Amino acid sequence: MVLSDRVLMGPGPSNLYPEVISAFTRPLLGHLDPEFLEVLDETCDRLRTVFGTENSLTLPLSGTGSAGMEAAFVNTVGPGDVVVVGVNGLFGERMCDVAQRLGADVVRVDAPWGEPLDPGAVVGAHRAPTVIALVHAETSTGVRNDVEEVARGKGDALLLVDAVTSLGGIVFDADRWGVDLAYSGTQKCLGVPPGLSPFTVSDRARARLKDRPPSWYFDLGLIARYVEGEGGRTYHHTAPVSMVFALHAGLGVLLEEGLENAWARHGACGHALQTGLEKLGFELVAPAQYRLPQLTTVWVPDDLGGNSEADVRAALLGRYGIEIGAGVGVMAGRAWRIGCMGHTARMRNVELLLGALGEVLGR
Ligand code: PLP
Repeated sequence: MVLSDRVLMGPGPSNLYPEVISAFTRPLLGHLDPEFLEVLDETCDRLRTVFGTENSLTLPLSGTGSAGMEAAFVNTVGPGDVVVVGVNGLFGERMCDVAQRLGADVVRVDAPWGEPLDPGAVVGAHRAPTVIALVHAETSTGVRNDVEEVARGKGDALLLVDAVTSLGGIVFDADRWGVDLAYSGTQKCLGVPPGLSPFTVSDRARARLKDRPPSWYFDLGLIARYVEGEGGRTYHHTAPVSMVFALHAGLGVLLEEGLENAWARHGACGHALQTGLEKLGFELVAPAQYRLPQLTTVWVPDDLGGNSEADVRAALLGRYGIEIGAGVGVMAGRAWRIGCMGHTARMRNVELLLGALGEVLGR
């Protein structure tokens, strides 16, 4: 057996909390076993705390972050509905694709990749949209979008937010801000493997969910009967029991540390990483005020001593066991994405990466 000692500093997955690894050794239980249902209920409670919500419909959806995106749109949007989407990176683009496939009338509000969205432009893009959607932490660019400000101007529209890279790493406050639907992923700042999508729906959004959405698997009305169990739980699909154990454990670690402390830890590591990169001569992509601590983007320097940018990433991985991410979309080959998420967000990993990068580049 090969034990990997990689330091995962890409755009996700992050390293796993040791408690999460132990959770996978828990003996399997049936997905309707009362003992499992207790763990599931507690997981949903923990998710409410992490999302900053009292929404009764808050659960881990079976599937990765993209499942959350699909579920959010498929339950709220149909042919002819107007959906305003803020687009300043790959995942905003993906939202447009998902909404278009459902026949929605998509109104895009673009900002250049690497820049934040203009909240005024997003809320002013249409008189009465059904949904306004945006990505909180754009993993493709390292930029934070101002969800709170968009929420303030949402009017009667439902606000749909991608919190895949933000949840657990930076402040997310669904109820106070007025977020109606939000989804995340387990593999980023929650320090759990990919496989579940934490998901929450406000009562306001719940009252407007489509009756028979075109997806059976992601029909929230059906799923709610299993997770909420009022009048007895109804089987919907077999819950991925071990993944729920893992998420339960990861959220336990996070809440024991305290959300504020976890945000501060991500903030401190991100700041040290970004300062260190600038000292090494790197130019950061995102403007300071909108820079994510958990995902830093830097422009690839022109002079790599005859190496390609892929050679540098391969050297970091091969010689030091550190993974960093390549640029995507318009930044492919031009930027690197360095993650500092979940259990990876430790000062020792920041120092390790800065030292290794300095050595590889001879700086
Ligand atoms: N949204 C954002 C912001 C992401 O970063 C990702 C994945 O990196 C996704 C959605 C899709 O999540 P997944 O790859 O878990 O399906």
